[in-house]
Amino acid sequence: MSTPAYDVIVVGAGIIGISSALKLQQEGKRVLVLDSKGVAAETSAGNAGAFAFADVIPLATPGIMRKAPKWLLDPLGPLSIRPAYAFKIIPWMLHFWRASWKDRYGAALKAQADLMELSKAALERQIQGVNGEHLIRREGQLQLYEGEAEFKAALPSWQIRKSHGVQFELLESPEAIANIQPGIDPRFTHAGFTPEWKNVVHPKTWTEHLADHFCRLGGAIQIAQVMTVKHRDHDVVVSTQEHNYEVGHVVLAAGAWSKSLAQQIGDSIPLDTERGYNTTLPAGAFDLKTHITFSNHGFVVTKAGDGVRVGGAVELGA
Ligand SMILES: Cc1cc2nc3c(=O)[nH]c(=O)nc-3n(C[C@H](O)[C@H](O)[C@H](O)COP(=O)(O)OP(=O)(O)OC[C@H]3O[C@@H](n4cnc5c(N)ncnc54)[C@H](O)[C@@H]3O)c2cc1C
Repeated sequence: MSTPAYDVIVVGAGIIGISSALKLQQEGKRVLVLDSKGVAAETSAGNAGAFAFADVIPLATPGIMRKAPKWLLDPLGPLSIRPAYAFKIIPWMLHFWRASWKDRYGAALKAQADLMELSKAALERQIQGVNGEHLIRREGQLQLYEGEAEFKAALPSWQIRKSHGVQFELLESPEAIANIQPGIDPRFTHAGFTPEWKNVVHPKTWTEHLADHFCRLGGAIQIAQVMTVKHRDHDVVVSTQEHNYEVGHVVLAAGAWSKSLAQQIGDSIPLDTERGYNTTLPAGAFDLKTHITFSNHGFVVTKAGDGVRVGGAVELGA
């Protein structure tokens, strides 16, 4: 019997698949990455490129479900649900709602804060390991509030960040904001600035850089759509149109498509899709100094390559 060529197959060459492949490779595993479209062909190209380590607070916060109807009724609000999907999303919404109850929220907050702490250190190791410092922006983040009432309502969240060691400065006038980012409409009167916030210069470029590093060290990436994933004894058979690969382990990092692949091997994961949107303005559109978050509007403005990317909105709609 021939020895399998790979120890692990990673399905998906987005940021999660490529990062997982790199780590497994470091641990001495022979890894093959399969993606139907190529490296960073989906969400990992179109995001805002932020390492949001200051965001220690889970989305499922107590009271969030009370805010949802207002957001849903506002056509420019931060949340929408496609009408055709409204019934399908109910089980996930119930999970989400349950996670926002006080008894679960405390544990989720601790888990998220611990994860951020671990990830922060892991990222620095990764940047060094792949000689990637030139692809990182260390320009901080400005979180804007429209008026004092909005700012005061957000103060408890800044207290929580403080208790988890997040560095920040609170700004209480348009002038103080302009010292960090000139050109903001003065109706944004207050802000929190997190100086340690980091972004990648462009999310696609960053993922491609990691993928190049993985390939230079002998890793393999192939363009192929995974059709089925099945158990065979103690192994897994991963089938594309052309090959059946039998391996000891498979990592499903297929983003929004992971749920249906996981179901094939009997894993029912409570995953649904959160779609977002972005548009990228050309170079010179705005002299952006830092990553900007418009807290209650649900979008961010950030550099992407030479351009300025406006991204956000949460749409639940598969
Ligand atoms: C507008 C917007 C802004 C965002 N901003 C940020 C941000 O600033 N910071 C942040 O941390 N996150 C952000 N996110 C979220 C982030 O982009 C995603 O969490 C991340 O890109 C997911 O990466 P992934 O590798 O899991 O999935 P993907 O990048 O979607 O990769 C999945 C890959 O799997 C492949 N695939 C799927 N099915 C198969 C199959 N059957 N066979 C083979 N290949 C398959 C796909 O082709 C794809 O390449 C943002 C998202 C959006 C929409």
